[in-house]
Amino acid sequence: MTSLLYLDYVALIIYYFMLVAWFFRLRKRRSYKGLYLPLLLVATFTCVFDIFTIIFNVEGSYFFVLKYLLNGFYLVLRSLIPLLYVGYIISVTETWHKIVNNSYIKCLIALPCVISAIMTITSPLTHLIYYIDDSGLYKRGPAIFILYIDAAIYFILCLYFCIRYSELLKPEKYIPLLSIIPSQVATVIIQLMFPHILCEMIATAISLLLIMITIEKQEEKFNPSTGLLKSEIFYDMIDNAKSVSRPYSAIFINIANHSLLSDYLPLSGMVALYSSVARRLEAIGSQLKISAEIYDLENGLFSVVLYGDDIEFANRYASYAFETLKHDCMVNGLNLTVLPSVCVFKFPEDTKSVEQLRLFLSDLRNHKYSNGVNLASTYMKNKDYTIMANMDTILKDAIENDRFEVYYQPIYSNEKNGFNSAEALLRLITPEYGFIRPDLFIPMAEESGAIHKIGLIVLEKVCRFISSDEFKKLGLDYIEVNLSVVQCMDKNLADKILSVCKKYGVNPSQLNLEITETASIFTQRNMIKNINRLFETGYSFSLDDFGTGYSNLVRIASLPLNIVKLDKSFTWTENSEDLKIILENTINMIKKMNMKIVVEGVETEEMLKRFKDLGCEYIQGYYFSKPLPEYDFINYIKDAS
Ligand code: C2E
Ligand code: MG
Ligand code: MG
Repeated sequence: MTSLLYLDYVALIIYYFMLVAWFFRLRKRRSYKGLYLPLLLVATFTCVFDIFTIIFNVEGSYFFVLKYLLNGFYLVLRSLIPLLYVGYIISVTETWHKIVNNSYIKCLIALPCVISAIMTITSPLTHLIYYIDDSGLYKRGPAIFILYIDAAIYFILCLYFCIRYSELLKPEKYIPLLSIIPSQVATVIIQLMFPHILCEMIATAISLLLIMITIEKQEEKFNPSTGLLKSEIFYDMIDNAKSVSRPYSAIFINIANHSLLSDYLPLSGMVALYSSVARRLEAIGSQLKISAEIYDLENGLFSVVLYGDDIEFANRYASYAFETLKHDCMVNGLNLTVLPSVCVFKFPEDTKSVEQLRLFLSDLRNHKYSNGVNLASTYMKNKDYTIMANMDTILKDAIENDRFEVYYQPIYSNEKNGFNSAEALLRLITPEYGFIRPDLFIPMAEESGAIHKIGLIVLEKVCRFISSDEFKKLGLDYIEVNLSVVQCMDKNLADKILSVCKKYGVNPSQLNLEITETASIFTQRNMIKNINRLFETGYSFSLDDFGTGYSNLVRIASLPLNIVKLDKSFTWTENSEDLKIILENTINMIKKMNMKIVVEGVETEEMLKRFKDLGCEYIQGYYFSKPLPEYDFINYIKDAS
């Protein structure tokens, strides 16, 4: 029976288009590391040789050597495909390093393929796998089943790796990889039963096409503007490296002045700048002959990943990166100064925790680390990262077990010549980490939403204190309570405050609510409604942290504020003539707007005098007292009066 070649022709057409598509990807990407391309090339050549062997499989003694060669090549290439497929699956699960470092396993995996290849190559002499008979036709040898056994072994291995590392594979990778196995088994059975139906090549082509459009979606892996791997791929990589304990070094390169540059450059300029950084980083890899994965983590943060535990290469890469990037960069005809901050991170030594690494990266983005090459280990040892990485659990436990305590910092009234109020400042005391600073846990509680519960806990504690007999004896007018921006966005905030105050019989005039500058520039409808409703009920508001950020004075003027609190960073400004003018005029402006001033961070007598002279009504700071626990605060005020 003559073989049906047309399926092979269709397979060849599919391969042709896949190779063309790959060629265009490579032009965009420049380089490709992985086993898909070798697999595609071997499968294409197998298909070509398959077609030729059939075309030349005609009776007659012509092309005798050529027939042997064509069939030999075809069979060797065909037995290579399952081996490459196993390799491909291993590389997709990122467990390659385990195999590469173990020569015993490597040899064992390659063994069936090597045996098949040797038996095929020696077949012209042994006739074991195939031979050309006297009439010039191809014939299967008695040991041809070895090739099928090999293929079966490899497919079992594929199945093993897919199942063993299934947790490392997302369904979009897992399903195509697994779905190929039954199709391959079916084609082998069909071809064994009906050798004239040549469906093996088309089945392989369709399988590879499926992989190409699912797993090898290069355009989804690479950032189109820089041509570097995307940040999602980086985060997948760090998750996988942790799961399979794969050591790597990552060099993080942050363009510390990127936000400033992005304020002035058009989008196309920023794209050109990032591309230029990307090309420079790639060039270092070629220069040092190091094979590295380069990721674009966006907004001026890049990462170069080197696998293995040799830190030397990473250190060299890092210093080259710093040296190369610190030179000016020509973008759109402009000579730009880039401020690179380079940090070398080593997994698993620096931290095994993916969460800690993420936190570290967000710090790095905020360019907390100095210019030059730094070691992540220096920062990662910092206890804060451990606390921050576990913050959700810490806060949940603190809420459930009442681990919060409210401290009070007295506020001095110049008019009264004594203390008239205090600020309630939250403290978190945990059994595991001890005392945790509010500026560490408040922002994270805001992110997770825990601030809503925490805010109510503070309010309850403050109201209970205000309603106590001890408080009444202190003669204080009110307590200032901090409200976070996130709390103000809660449409029920006003109701919640009113109900807690009602529960403890606290009068609106006994509470002063502090909102920050950030809150004041937000145009959130809920926030405005909350503020107006509480103001109308008789609560007063302070504007906290004045002078720390971007002050939208017009917005501030539109809010019902009674007090402005000058932030300590503002009050600590040096006493130069120019700054004095700014300070004096700011104070005058606030006074003219009929608002009172609390000066924060007053630590010395000299500062006290200076702000008294400038006419500020209230003083808060370590000069009088640090925030104190309730009991100590009561004693402090009693002693002072
Ligand atoms: P803040 O509201 O601006 O509070 C003033 C901060 O300055 C307090 O830090 C206080 O201890 C500190 N401070 C006061 N006087 C001096 C001084 O003379 N020298 C120095 N070096 N520091 C002084 P603390 O208690 O660590 O609180 C930090 C921030 O955490 C607060 O800044 C506030 O934004 C936030 N926070 C504290 N408690 C709460 C709360 O109950 N709710 C909310 N939403 N935020 C809170
Ligand atoms: Mg405050
Ligand atoms: Mg403040």
